[in-house]
Amino acid sequence: MPGNEMVTVWEKDPSSGRTRQAPKPDINEPPLRFYFLPPEPPVSDDTDSADFRYWVAAEALRRGADFWTPCLKVPASWIPGEMLQVRLDTPNGDLNSDYDGNILTFSHGSSPAYPGLVVYAGATPDILCHELGHAILHILNKDLWPPGIVEIEAFKESFGDMSAILCALQVSEFRDTLLAETQAAGTFWVSSSLSRIAEQFGKVVRAVAPEDAEVDCLRNAWNHHDYEAPATIADRHGPDMLTASPHSFSRVFTGAFYEAFAAMLAAKAAKSTRPTSEELRIASIHMRDILAKSVIGAQRRDDFFGYMAARMIDASAPDAAYPAIPTDVFTRRSILPGAIV
Ligand SMILES: [Zn+2]
Repeated sequence: MPGNEMVTVWEKDPSSGRTRQAPKPDINEPPLRFYFLPPEPPVSDDTDSADFRYWVAAEALRRGADFWTPCLKVPASWIPGEMLQVRLDTPNGDLNSDYDGNILTFSHGSSPAYPGLVVYAGATPDILCHELGHAILHILNKDLWPPGIVEIEAFKESFGDMSAILCALQVSEFRDTLLAETQAAGTFWVSSSLSRIAEQFGKVVRAVAPEDAEVDCLRNAWNHHDYEAPATIADRHGPDMLTASPHSFSRVFTGAFYEAFAAMLAAKAAKSTRPTSEELRIASIHMRDILAKSVIGAQRRDDFFGYMAARMIDASAPDAAYPAIPTDVFTRRSILPGAIV
């Protein structure tokens, strides 16, 4: 049992500089247990230290795994087994993170444009909860794991980003920060510290490979990318252009998800333009359950985005306030076919 000891971790993205206190996480807690390399260090408040980064990763992965566990069949288990191995900082000198079906791996890197800024993928809660999302999706539906279908590969990346967004919303301090931000903007449907996934990481990625990141983050869930068949856009290039690569194309699904989430939150909040922290938390649980329900049992199909959109609408049906919202968003963004004209 963890005691009363607290650890200092990032509130969300390291670039904000905002930290918070959290109960010391237990990575060995069942059912979704982790095994970390390196071994557990002392608690540290030094945000530049490997010890601090260890506890950021431990807290984010524990929080993320606990968030998804209620959606998993009992007894819940990782695909590789009872323990998921996590390599927090592999020395390959690359800015990277990966779930290969067995192990979560994170590394660090820099860019000539920002020589003083060394970014550790394993110290960014968004990246941690994105990779965790891959491992969770693997549990929810093993049939989707083999590569080969463009829209399924892109959906996997979208699921990682949706996991990062929903896991971030489990942090009450961050919900307060976000609500202050979005209420100042007058709408939740706006570019915000929630929609901007991996801001610090994206800054360095953009300097190294401009096509792989957006101007202010790695990928922004607040976007207006409409669906186009991937085969018709395969040869495009450019950071703000939609391409058929999984990370780029994933933004189509993530954008629709995020717009639907904002509208579902407004529909449920007592004051639609001023949701409370608790209303936001509950909406995130509803969205988690809708996503998980639509993923479980999904078949491999070339038109996976439209298929998943239809499954999400079905999964949202038990709450009368919801199905019209994703129907509108997915249709308007051409993910679902609209009326024949
Ligand atoms: Zn990914």
